[in-house]
Amino acid sequence: MGASRVTPGVYITTSWDDGHPCDLRIAQLLERYGLAGTFYVPREHPEGTIPPSRYATFGPSVELGAHTIHHEALAWIDDARARREIAESKDWIEQHTGTHCPVFCPPRGKFHRRHLDMMVDAGFDGARTVEAWSLDAPRPYANPHRAFHVMPTTVQAYPNVALGNLRNVIKRRSLCGLVRFVRCGFGRDWTHSLVCSLDTAVRRGHGVVHLWGHGWEIAAQKQWPQVDAVFRELSRRVRARQARAVTNGQLVALCRGDADAPPDAPARPVATPPPRPLAHAS
Ligand SMILES: [Zn+2]
Repeated sequence: MGASRVTPGVYITTSWDDGHPCDLRIAQLLERYGLAGTFYVPREHPEGTIPPSRYATFGPSVELGAHTIHHEALAWIDDARARREIAESKDWIEQHTGTHCPVFCPPRGKFHRRHLDMMVDAGFDGARTVEAWSLDAPRPYANPHRAFHVMPTTVQAYPNVALGNLRNVIKRRSLCGLVRFVRCGFGRDWTHSLVCSLDTAVRRGHGVVHLWGHGWEIAAQKQWPQVDAVFRELSRRVRARQARAVTNGQLVALCRGDADAPPDAPARPVATPPPRPLAHAS
């Protein structure tokens, strides 16, 4: 995988996995606050799913991504089946949306390098991982056939998640992640960790703040007040032009330098200048 990119600007993106009915409440909140999110929806999930058509009532700030057909951890199934799960989930989402599905999220964060090649072969532009405590822009994945980017995340919307995600940082031997955990994670809840990470990116003048979670966990953990509060704060930052709100697909499109990268989410109350392409720092 190539070196990390540095963004000339601060971007806020969110992603929500599994297609649970609670996603609709998250989508409503994203629209209300002028934010953007990508919903990774499998066709089948033990917690239950809603059909992709239910997301169609929202504007372009709400995007669908693929999450396999049967919510399969790719590392736990044979390659032929993994290839089918990846390719068919893209087709399935596109049948519902009628548009290109740019992004994929491997269930449970379990995948190997060969699975990235399968995503490239299927025609995806990027994948979201569960790497935590990152402010990096999507990283280019070296594949001769198609530009493809791998997206880390910053914070998961889940109480007491910081220490669990520290294991994630240690496993990846990420020094930056460890520093961010010490500064923004230790002893804080996820909402404060997220805002602390955003503050870091704003101070630096670049970075991608990526909040992710599961709608069904938000409901089970009674996190709706926290979601509302953190969305309100992110919205305030966007309106103050400290950061720009983009979907995962828009972020990847910016990295690819696509001329037709979607503009700002229409719900945003304050006009902002057009996005600049994300540039390589090295
Ligand atoms: Zn999932």
